[in-house]
Amino acid sequence: MADNTYDVIVVGTGAGGGTAMKMLCEAGLRVCALNSGPRTDPDKDYRNHRQVYDLKYRGYGDPLRFKDKPHQEPYSVEESEYSEGRDLFEHDVAYSNAPGTDWYWKRCKATGGKANFWGRSSARFGDIDFKAADLDGFGENWPVDYAEIAPWFSKAERYMGVASTIQNRPSNPDGDYLPPIPWRCLDYIIKKGAEKIGVPYLPDRCAQLTVAHEGHPACHYCGNCSRGCEVGSFFSPTWFTIPEAEATKNLTLLTHALVRSVLLDENGQAKGVAYVDRNAKKEVEVYAKVVVLAASCVETAHIMLNSKSRHWPTGVANSSGQLGRNLCEHLYGCPGYGYLPRLLGQPATPDSIADSTVAWMPRWQNLKNPREEKFIRGYSVYMGGGCGEFPGYYGELEGFGAKFKRDIKRYYPTSVGALIQAPTLPSPTNYVDIDPDKQDIFGIPQLRFHFQWGENELLMWQHSKQVMVDLFKAMGAELWGTDVEPNRPGTSLHETGVCRFGNDPKKFVTNKWAQTHDVPNLYICDASIFPNCTDKTTTMPIVAFTMRTCDYMLDNFKKGVHSRT
Ligand SMILES: Cc1cc2nc3c(=O)[nH]c(=O)nc-3n(C[C@H](O)[C@H](O)[C@H](O)COP(=O)(O)OP(=O)(O)OC[C@H]3O[C@@H](n4cnc5c(N)ncnc54)[C@H](O)[C@@H]3O)c2cc1C
Ligand code: SF4
Repeated sequence: MADNTYDVIVVGTGAGGGTAMKMLCEAGLRVCALNSGPRTDPDKDYRNHRQVYDLKYRGYGDPLRFKDKPHQEPYSVEESEYSEGRDLFEHDVAYSNAPGTDWYWKRCKATGGKANFWGRSSARFGDIDFKAADLDGFGENWPVDYAEIAPWFSKAERYMGVASTIQNRPSNPDGDYLPPIPWRCLDYIIKKGAEKIGVPYLPDRCAQLTVAHEGHPACHYCGNCSRGCEVGSFFSPTWFTIPEAEATKNLTLLTHALVRSVLLDENGQAKGVAYVDRNAKKEVEVYAKVVVLAASCVETAHIMLNSKSRHWPTGVANSSGQLGRNLCEHLYGCPGYGYLPRLLGQPATPDSIADSTVAWMPRWQNLKNPREEKFIRGYSVYMGGGCGEFPGYYGELEGFGAKFKRDIKRYYPTSVGALIQAPTLPSPTNYVDIDPDKQDIFGIPQLRFHFQWGENELLMWQHSKQVMVDLFKAMGAELWGTDVEPNRPGTSLHETGVCRFGNDPKKFVTNKWAQTHDVPNLYICDASIFPNCTDKTTTMPIVAFTMRTCDYMLDNFKKGVHSRT
């Protein structure tokens, strides 16, 4: 057996890839995982309680850091001066936007991917999501229902450690939870206001360890999560799946390995991948009996679209012509922000305890009747505020000098704001393809985005603004304003849908097990298989569906459908 031949190749080491390689290694398979960037090192790459004033550029970053980089845009939130210099984020591989498209593609190329810095909101999807087409007549049902996937949701939650409460709302199914994150003062005020207008305000499902869990320490509520947790108190591949896969000694992890295409045998089946060794600047091949793509939603489609051959002239496993189609996303934006006058001048409290998703308003629209509102389906809202690290409301206050400073302090506990999470519907005009005219610096044809917000999510956006007017009044808050436009598409990082799963090979790229219809030894373990977005986030479901796919694949190894090396 050659050194470069494995049982399984896994492309990507994020939430999906990390989970796949852990499960497959623990089952005794020899796995080669490829990751496009460097190894994440929490000691160097996370915040480690440094303050922005400890940093050379006060958190704004070296103004010359993107000099000569093909992709110059900084990535909000996740990319920061704390980890600058270690090249964790993708700025070498450019992408294209078709005319009229403004997609913001934020990529963490280090091991563990975006879940090093994620927001940890981890709700289950329910039948209201899986069977939405039956309810409102739009689009396609998912090929699984809640009863079928629920055991894997439990498995994923128990592994990741998700904190929440039992809430008895079928639209937002309950799971297996650690104790919830303690609420802040403002959560109680928001809840009272929300009750008055008939909107639920409940603990979110948050993958953050409120108690010690499976060898990982309990959270100490420093509020640094989106700069990386230096003790591993929330689920991330860096602290969970990657070390566990390595402990089996069955893993070969290749870093700085940018996969360009799936290699095919004479029958058009997967036999390995071709990648660019970014350090050596040369193309290399590795081989395996089974290939798993988990490069994050659109990058998985990019690799497949670039895997053209005489068997698959438009990209591997694309006999349906659906590869890259139906790109979905969450519309994000702030439908209302302001302050709570009753908290003016109150002592500061540590409200930045979890850095985001302590509580939320899970979807409450169109629950009784799928067409109660002007839009179909529904959205959720996260509320934030209180004594955060930075007084983001400073622009609302007038003046300067000592009075300005006093005002900043007086308003410190009072701020409150909303973030809408509104799913787009699948649309034939929202998709990715290969830009025929552009290649990246490694000679790989670039991915191109075609995407516009649709009427349905824009109606949700308008609806949420009116809800905020009502909520602010009900909780005795002053509304300072709203975002005029939603955030740029791509901002949420919850894109889905470009390799959708379904039973009909003519309409879907993979079957219900995330095994491509055309190439049975090619599997997908990321959100590209999800047929559409819901009002919930994607990562816990990525872990759950990956666990299910791996169980199915391991069964196929046992049955001899896949052979070992
Ligand atoms: C600030 C922030 C907040 C978020 N909040 C939430 C939240 O509250 N809830 C939620 O569910 N989700 C949230 N997300 C999104 C969440 O992080 C992603 O859904 C999840 O991490 C996706 O996992 P993935 O494995 O599919 O992709 P990624 O994490 O992107 O991992 C992909 C991996 O593939 C590798 N790779 C990519 N291309 C190639 C290639 N060509 N060759 C080799 N390797 C490649 C990358 O290096 C990376 O390691 C948030 C993300 C961020 C950054
Ligand atoms: S708040 Fe908790 S999970 Fe977040 S970085 Fe601090 S210790 Fe880690």
